[in-house]
Amino acid sequence: MSSGTFYIHTFGCQMNVHDSEQMGQLLCDEGYVRVDEAAGADIIIINTCSVREKAAQKAYSELGRLKRFKRRNPDLIMGVAGCLAQELGNGFFRKAPYLDFVLGTHNLHRLARIVGSVRDRRSRVADTSFHQPVRSLGIRTLPSGGRISAFVTIMQGCNNFCSYCIVPYVRGREESRQSIDILDEIGFLAENGIREVTLLGQNVNSYGSGLSEGIDFPALLRMINGTEGIERIRFTTSHPKDLSDDLAACFAGLDKVCEHIHLPVQAGSDYVLKKMKRGYTVGEYLKKVGMVRDACPEISITSDIIVGFPGEKEHDFQKTIDLMEEVRFDNTFSFRYCDRSGTASEGYDEKVAEEIKRERLSLIQSLQERHTFEKNRTMEGRVEDVLVEGFSKGSSVDVTGRTRGNKIVNLTGDETLAGKTVRVKIVRAHMHSLRGEML
Ligand code: SAM
Ligand code: SF4
Repeated sequence: MSSGTFYIHTFGCQMNVHDSEQMGQLLCDEGYVRVDEAAGADIIIINTCSVREKAAQKAYSELGRLKRFKRRNPDLIMGVAGCLAQELGNGFFRKAPYLDFVLGTHNLHRLARIVGSVRDRRSRVADTSFHQPVRSLGIRTLPSGGRISAFVTIMQGCNNFCSYCIVPYVRGREESRQSIDILDEIGFLAENGIREVTLLGQNVNSYGSGLSEGIDFPALLRMINGTEGIERIRFTTSHPKDLSDDLAACFAGLDKVCEHIHLPVQAGSDYVLKKMKRGYTVGEYLKKVGMVRDACPEISITSDIIVGFPGEKEHDFQKTIDLMEEVRFDNTFSFRYCDRSGTASEGYDEKVAEEIKRERLSLIQSLQERHTFEKNRTMEGRVEDVLVEGFSKGSSVDVTGRTRGNKIVNLTGDETLAGKTVRVKIVRAHMHSLRGEML
């Protein structure tokens, strides 16, 4: 019998998307049913992100929008989870007195108990303690809607403390999961129709440090590559300082590892990189790019870039442009620097004016559009393996899928193709996708 309905709104990265899937699974296990609209739901959860100020503001405004449901229905249980919840803890109740619970990043596995105690005793709960090991990492879930691709968290937290980043404070210290648990979970996913896994961690390249089993990330990839039923393996994020020859060789040597690496550079000036505490120089970054391209010339490379870091002068910014021209990324996610509470760079002087950050961001983004389109154009006429995911948004005649290099391809087809890998000739390049014809 149904215990009621729940609605989860997710902000932020793939890790948060996966955390929401896990929270959803825990509530389904308790008999709750997921709904796509907040109106009428018995439980509402906002899974927040605080990596950038904009994401945090979006979460606050969504909360403001949803609080009217609580006014209308006092029995509604409303809570926040994720990085902003971890950051504010109890303080969230002062900002949003209508909330019933605040769930920290290490405590997802306690969700059902917390919902139960709010429901039975109508008391508020804030649970933001850190634990080792992080038990919530092992919650098994299948992605909804018959999707054929799933996330698998292989590690939590980060030890790098880049000077601008709040992640180590809100996700805790780096902790890798035992390889046997990861393989078990991937086996379960494969048995349930999943064809592609994306391994998640803030710095997957340091997977295994701290574990007694002596298995590093390339060794983990080799083990996963043997899983029957899984066709494709992706992962994110790779920290350039920890990218090894051995990992570069995996792109060529392991048939299931897809030819795509997300390798955030953040800035193209050594001065800025040093202040960011990234642990590499531009020269070292370029060497790593050369290393993966030597191992796998077809690899697609994407990156993250921050503009307007404190002290970034015009000539530093120009170096970021130069680096982009040299590497020619397939795509980048670029952001205006913003102060995050408690980070080292919050205290740095020479903050860059918002107006200048905006201008720099716009320059970077138009340059990237040019590069992305150029890259996509080189795909025209090529034949690619496309793993079909399902119908394209809003279409009943086109399906959508991805190349191994993570480019979106739309082609004519029907639902029988979902989950299949088909040979496709790329006939036209667009900015954000490719058009293909099935061979
Ligand atoms: N672990 C990944 C790495 O090392 O690149 C990235 C994690 S972070 C969740 C995602 C991206 O957000 C970063 O790569 C960075 O570009 C951006 N970011 C983090 N803190 C930021 C800040 N204070 N201001 C602007 N962008 C930020
Ligand atoms: Fe943040 Fe740096 Fe860790 Fe990435 S590596 S999560 S940017 S501290």
